Amino acid sequence: MSSYIEHFIAGKPYSEPAARSGAVHNPSTGEEIARCEYGTRSTVDHAVAVATEAGRRWGRASHAARQAVIFKLRDLMIANMDVLAEAIGREHGKTIPDAKGELGRAIEGIEFACNAPHVTKGEYTNNVGGEIEVFSMRRPIGVVGCITPFNFPIMVPAVMMTMAVAVGNSIVWKPSEKVPSAALEFARIWKEAGLPDGIFNVVQGDKEVVDAILEHPGIAGVSFVGSTAVGEYVYQKGTNHNKRVAAFTGGKNHMVVMPDADLEAAASAFVSAGFGSSSQRCMAVSLLLPVGTETAERLREIVIPKIRALKVGSYDDPGADFGAVVSRESKVSVEHAIGRCLEEGGELVIDGRGFAVPGRPNGYYLGPTLFDRITTDMHLYREEVFGPVRGIMRPATFDEAIDITNQHEYGNGSVIFTRDGKSAHRFMMEIESGMIGVNVPVPLPSAFFNFGGLRRSKFGDGHLYGPDAARFYTKFKTVSQRWPEPDDGALPVSLAFNPSA
Ligand code: NAD
Repeated sequence: MSSYIEHFIAGKPYSEPAARSGAVHNPSTGEEIARCEYGTRSTVDHAVAVATEAGRRWGRASHAARQAVIFKLRDLMIANMDVLAEAIGREHGKTIPDAKGELGRAIEGIEFACNAPHVTKGEYTNNVGGEIEVFSMRRPIGVVGCITPFNFPIMVPAVMMTMAVAVGNSIVWKPSEKVPSAALEFARIWKEAGLPDGIFNVVQGDKEVVDAILEHPGIAGVSFVGSTAVGEYVYQKGTNHNKRVAAFTGGKNHMVVMPDADLEAAASAFVSAGFGSSSQRCMAVSLLLPVGTETAERLREIVIPKIRALKVGSYDDPGADFGAVVSRESKVSVEHAIGRCLEEGGELVIDGRGFAVPGRPNGYYLGPTLFDRITTDMHLYREEVFGPVRGIMRPATFDEAIDITNQHEYGNGSVIFTRDGKSAHRFMMEIESGMIGVNVPVPLPSAFFNFGGLRRSKFGDGHLYGPDAARFYTKFKTVSQRWPEPDDGALPVSLAFNPSA
């Protein structure tokens, strides 16, 4: 039975008469399971007004009061793990263990936000001259607009928004319209954790809501995670409207395997990082680059059976390694990418098209697909494919592998497998990616490090995760003060520019 999903504003569900709505599907079955209300400019106006009013008090609350909510939120996330994983899996298609893995990372981010008082400490110097002391402090920026993708319905929003709230801001969040239910569960949990009404607001919808957020004079900063085309638009429009904007965007991640590497370990890492979550991760390894023909031939032979052994199934099938892709359009676009790669001369080693899961004839499934002999002129090298299609490239030398990786417009994550420290060192120094792995499948840093890509994987200097997120969500003030003794008398008039020197 189809349900109706509303917004969440001022601590309660919110709906507008005659609103637009969109269908929400269960990718594992292809069924429409809900209608989701789409907000308008007036919904955003209402949410910003509520967030501004509530945010004034929250911004003045003590660190201890704010931290108490974040601590409670962390405990409630653990207590609600099953409910959240079900909401994620049902609308995204990822398996329940994968959804719980996502939630584990979300909880790490929430735990890090418990450090907000530490990472927002100011600086102090006494008697810079004339008994004047100077100190700096970080204050919340105000209302933050958050726009998030479908592929991590809770992890990306949790990590992004918990720090923003912990340092004293209020939120107007537009989740992906493909996964709106988890957003409402998250809002409910914030409320239960004791967050005052109006600090955490959800406006469901599409581009209309995004544009209203980007243009709204009451929104001070915007955090975006999603595709590069949309992220660039959000960055340009948001900054044109005088907001600070951090936009984290697409990736095409390379794994270089040196001839001296442990090829079994590299192959397992490629298959895990390449196909996990149906390859719908910005940090998924997309391209395998064994260095030299012999490494390529040996690695290919190890990788093929591991890929063939993967089981694709419904999100609630405990035996499934990965699930459906998120939508029918996504499935069609991934199939199109496979067809185009064949036309361009890629060697199709494993074909995942025409794949069906028994008992789920309408689910958006694709089997794992592998191409070999991908070259830099092919679309499969150039474009991010958000579905289980991976490729092998064949650089003759380490220099060529570095060039191929650095030529790409994206620079999110890159990985090397080697037993040689010198090669690993050269890789981390020369590769232009924001996150680099050595003998690890996915170089997703822990929450207490900064996360973020380079080149066209990120727009803006700000961060959404890690210590720099606390800086992005605060503005700096610097105070110079002097407290003369009552009998010191007034300073003489001086028109000198620097009278205290
Ligand atoms: P998307 O860009 O389609 O959507 C992201 C958000 O923007 C959604 O809330 C969506 O409703 C909104 N949106 C979509 N089209 C829009 C438009 N024309 N104008 C304004 N807003 C629009 O991305 P997605 O498909 O939901 O997510 C997958 C993408 O996100 C991939 O490219 C992936 O690499 C990227 N991603 C990046 C990171 C990172 O940290 N770099 C993390 C997760 C996902």
